Amino acid sequence: MSTSTDYLSAKRHSLAHVLLMAVKHHYPHALPTIGPVIENGFYYDFDFGTSGKPGLEDLEKIEKTMKEIVSQNLAFRHEEVTADQARGYFEVNPYKKELIDGLEKDGKTITLYYTGDDFFDLCVGGHTETTGEIAVGSFKLDKIAGAYWRGDEKNAMLTRIYGLAFDTQEELDAYLVQQEEAKKRDHRIIGQQLNLFIFSPLVGPGLPLWTPRGTILRTEIDNFVQELRKEHNYGRVTVPHFTKPDLYIKSQHYEKYGDDLFKVKTRDGHELCIKPMNCPHHAQIYASQLRSYKELPIRYSETTMVYRDEQSGELNGLSRVLSITQDDAHIFCRESQLKEEMNNVWTLIERFYSAFGFNSLTPRFSRRNDDVKFKGNIELWEKAEGAIRTLLDERAAGTWVDGEGEAAFYGPKIDFMAKDALGRSHQVGTIQLDFVQPTNFELEYVSEEGKREMPVMIHCAIAGSLERFLSVYIEHTAGNFPLWLSPTQISIVPIAEAHHEHAKNVHYVLQAANIRVEADMSKEGLGKKIRAAREMKTPYWAVIGDAEVANGTVTLEHRTEGKIGEIKIEELLSKLTEEIKNKK
Ligand SMILES: [Zn+2]
Ligand SMILES: [Zn+2]
Repeated sequence: MSTSTDYLSAKRHSLAHVLLMAVKHHYPHALPTIGPVIENGFYYDFDFGTSGKPGLEDLEKIEKTMKEIVSQNLAFRHEEVTADQARGYFEVNPYKKELIDGLEKDGKTITLYYTGDDFFDLCVGGHTETTGEIAVGSFKLDKIAGAYWRGDEKNAMLTRIYGLAFDTQEELDAYLVQQEEAKKRDHRIIGQQLNLFIFSPLVGPGLPLWTPRGTILRTEIDNFVQELRKEHNYGRVTVPHFTKPDLYIKSQHYEKYGDDLFKVKTRDGHELCIKPMNCPHHAQIYASQLRSYKELPIRYSETTMVYRDEQSGELNGLSRVLSITQDDAHIFCRESQLKEEMNNVWTLIERFYSAFGFNSLTPRFSRRNDDVKFKGNIELWEKAEGAIRTLLDERAAGTWVDGEGEAAFYGPKIDFMAKDALGRSHQVGTIQLDFVQPTNFELEYVSEEGKREMPVMIHCAIAGSLERFLSVYIEHTAGNFPLWLSPTQISIVPIAEAHHEHAKNVHYVLQAANIRVEADMSKEGLGKKIRAAREMKTPYWAVIGDAEVANGTVTLEHRTEGKIGEIKIEELLSKLTEEIKNKK
């Protein structure tokens, strides 16, 4: 095996054979079908017919048998057979016979793989030498589900048994702990608990509705992006959400987007498209005037929704939605300005993500090789890729990842990967070059020599999609947002009615300073009021009792730091204001 991933994959594949053996031991009537390797493990599909099939409670005994088989240190060996011989071996199994017919039709070699002396399965290979190479504690049967033969609902329903497998027991345990933690941090659950967004059956799946609290989060994030962009002279633009199809025909997205493009009919029967992206619109603003080299780079930004018709089965919380809010931006610049522009966007991306606790981003360079059916001028590609490579070596020497052959047909790009609190990797910002849109829209500028030249376009959303960003960020923080982002920043908690007057005053002072404050004037006891603030993950609460009224103070507590102590109102105000300003 050439790499450790291949070796892990061989272990997982070998375990599928072991699972088959264990299942046959307990359920001799089971008809095996296929058993591939998947992310984090493997599965095997069986037809148990009508004479008894395992349930979740049976996985333990199957797993126990698997461990016994693994401990026997059985060798894998293979044997080539003819299609007729193979059909003979699998006389009673229509699924395997269908697979054998397929292999025969394609002129493929047919091999049986033995595990030990007597047990075999139809297989193309990719095993460990022996079962002994698999650590007994490194795998676990995970779940059981129904699955159609060959994924087609017209076919028989089979039973799929899933297993998890890693190199070592420690890795398996770490994965299980991570899964448990991930369940608790599920953004769909936290989103509901913190009242950030909802889905309505009348509106439909994939179309989140943002509550006032969720809208605060979105607005704060967008304001931050705009604040960063302002330093780099982005002009904010606004475009309608519909367009004549002509725009996308010219940009070639009409064809490329196909079924993902929403289309509507006007009352007089004309077709309009709902925008799946903003680039062609922004290109029209650029093209509306004759541009001089002196004006470049021209930078447009716009936070706006785009709409993509994903299959409803793929929709998932905020991770996959039909209405996507992009903090989109496009830069039109000269080839000689590419490196500096990309460098500036990189800085924006870094500053943005570090404010959210994603401190080390790993850049991935998607570049052209001979397999990329690229468009545009080869010299431009080479110069641009050279500039990107220099930039990567300057800013991330030794850490950037080479995505050779991963460039889109219209240009190379840098993607940034971030690790969340659970160690999961997410693709975050992207800087994408585009040599094709400027050609499609005949974009140009007048150079020093008075010649018409073509600018390069850079697509550079920072958060990317606010929905996807929030799905990652909510799970990263488990909903414990920093003060500057929290929908409620502080809760005022008077102990009894006698303290309401002072509570109202404090509320008034903080609100006047644009701090998002709530006062809990309910008749509940102190403990319950504090619990309510904790449940909403409010960063601070300020308790007011007799002493605080007498002293003109509050007793401040923090979500994680605990009791901070009694402080004057002016002190509270400057503490909060300072912390919000610094995005701590
Ligand atoms: Zn195999
Ligand atoms: Zn774009």
